[in-house]
Amino acid sequence: MIDPLSLTEHVKKMVVKVDDVEKRAYFRFRGGRWYGGIATADCIGCNLRCVFCWSWYFRDNAKKGRFYSPVQVYHKLVNIVKRRNYSQVRISGGEPTISRKHLLEVIDLFDRDGILFILETNGILIGYDKSYAKELSRFDNLHVRVSIKGTTAEEFNKLTNASPEAFSMQLKALENLLDEGVSVHPSIMLSFSDERGVRNIIERLRDIDEGLIKEIEEEYVFLYPHVARRLREAGIWPKRAYYPDRIPRELI
Ligand code: SF4
Repeated sequence: MIDPLSLTEHVKKMVVKVDDVEKRAYFRFRGGRWYGGIATADCIGCNLRCVFCWSWYFRDNAKKGRFYSPVQVYHKLVNIVKRRNYSQVRISGGEPTISRKHLLEVIDLFDRDGILFILETNGILIGYDKSYAKELSRFDNLHVRVSIKGTTAEEFNKLTNASPEAFSMQLKALENLLDEGVSVHPSIMLSFSDERGVRNIIERLRDIDEGLIKEIEEEYVFLYPHVARRLREAGIWPKRAYYPDRIPRELI
C-alpha cells in the first residue's frame, strides 16, 4: 500500500528538476475535444497508482519525457491555442500539483493572458496543505476539477493502492478550495461503485457544501486495450465504462 505523501517526494525527485526555474517532465503536448476544445500538456508522475489510469506507462517512466520550464510549457500550449482557436488549457497525464512552483508559474502566465487554466488534480496535496488552495486563489482565470477516485475510503484504496485515509484528503481539497474562493467542482470515478457508495459520497459532499452535489461530474473509465489488460490482471472490472469504439466524439 502506498502513502501518497511519501510517494510525492519520491516521484518529485524523478520528474522535477530545479535549475534557475522549476522544470517538470512532460511526454506530450496536444489539442483535444475535452471541454469543447482544450490545449493539453501531458506531464509525467503521480502520487497515486490508479489501476484504471490510462497514462500509467508514462506516469511511471520519467525517462520517457523531457523537462520543460514554465515558459516553455506556456509557449507550447499557446501555439496550440492559436492554431486551434481554443480559449483554455490544462495539464493532464499525471498529477500537476507535484511540481508546485512550476505549476503556479504556468497558471500565472495564462492568467495574465486571460486564458482559462483548468487544473485537473486528485487533490491530495491541496487537501493536505491549505496554503496550496490559498496560493491558487490569487488567479482569476482558474478552475479546479478535483477527480475523486471512488465513493468510499475502501473503494479508493482498492482503486489507487493508496492508504484509505488519503480519501479524506481528496475531499478536504474541495473544502480548502471553496474556503479560499477558488472555482472548483468534483469529478467522481463511478465505474466501480455501487449504490451504497454513491449515497456515501453524496453525503460526504453535502457535509462540505450542498452546492457541490449539483456540480458532480460523473467519470467513467475508458477501456483502452492497455487499461482493460491491467484491470483484468488486478481482478477488478468496471460496472460501467466507455468502450474505445463507442467514445463520444466530444470526449476524444
Ligand atoms: S490520479 Fe490520475 S494520473 Fe494519477 S494514477 Fe490516478 S488516474 Fe493516473
